[in-house]
Amino acid sequence: MKAGFVSILGLPNAGKSTLLNALLGEKLAIISPKVQTTRHRIKGILTEQDYQLVISDTPGIIEKTEYKLHDKMMAQVKSAVEDADVALFIVDAKGDLERANLVFEALKVKVPVILVLNKVDQLTPDKFKSVESYFAEKKYAKQIIAISALNRTGLEELIQAVLQQVPEGEPFYSEDELSDLPTKFFVQEIIREKLYLLFKDEIPYQSTVLVTEFKEKQTLIKITANIIVQRESQKGIIIGDGGKMIKKVGMDARMDIEKFLGQKVFLELFVKARDKWRDSDLYLKEYGY
Ligand code: GDP
Ligand code: MG
Repeated sequence: MKAGFVSILGLPNAGKSTLLNALLGEKLAIISPKVQTTRHRIKGILTEQDYQLVISDTPGIIEKTEYKLHDKMMAQVKSAVEDADVALFIVDAKGDLERANLVFEALKVKVPVILVLNKVDQLTPDKFKSVESYFAEKKYAKQIIAISALNRTGLEELIQAVLQQVPEGEPFYSEDELSDLPTKFFVQEIIREKLYLLFKDEIPYQSTVLVTEFKEKQTLIKITANIIVQRESQKGIIIGDGGKMIKKVGMDARMDIEKFLGQKVFLELFVKARDKWRDSDLYLKEYGY
């Protein structure tokens, strides 16, 4: 039996969360085309007959943090770097390679690294060759694996490469555990994902979600959650004309929460404004950061 910790690290939008979900075959981490969707370190547990991998998805690396929230996010990255047996440096192969390289060099990880070239579904063979040779010269990239997290190609090869670096050992978690985080966390994340998908400009970045009630009733689960925004004017945008937008958030979120929990859900949403919550230690703590 092999057992170990794997951390997925990279720039925002490289496909870290998509990779975690693809490896687990389950939607654990939320995904959007916007940067900074992931704010926490999320451990997903992949248990097979002869191995257990505890795989951490992390927030995308921010080179210059602007809010205390960003500092908290980068502390999560740091803890994932420190705990890993293997680090996966993941790159959007059609993105800014130089920028990714600078971030990887600055991480100074001491454990084995596998460089994961993601989104190869979008590359021509020529472009693929040039990206591969760009990283082949880098000292940290002893091993390069090409994948498409979205199309789930290259994953078996990636797992085999990871297993080569993972020590023998007994599993850390029981085989039916999927994550170390509580159900409430995932419910909050699902609602937060809808804010990333349905709103533009600053709203996704300036909002968070807090579940205030989670009650298992006879036939369904009753969930109440607050959507926290920064300004009063943003409340109106989230609610929308005649409540149109908040209804949409609630419907989309409820469907995903029901899928995640395998149970019927009654979801009630409220919107609250909390000035500068992203820079308040008190609020950040209350909201789970
Ligand atoms: P993260 O910020 O690193 O966690 O990135 P996400 O997993 O949230 O993905 C960012 C965006 O890239 C989303 O729109 C994904 O659908 C997209 N994406 C992720 N992996 C792939 C891939 O292999 N191919 C393509 N074409 N898109 C991908
Ligand atoms: Mg992510």
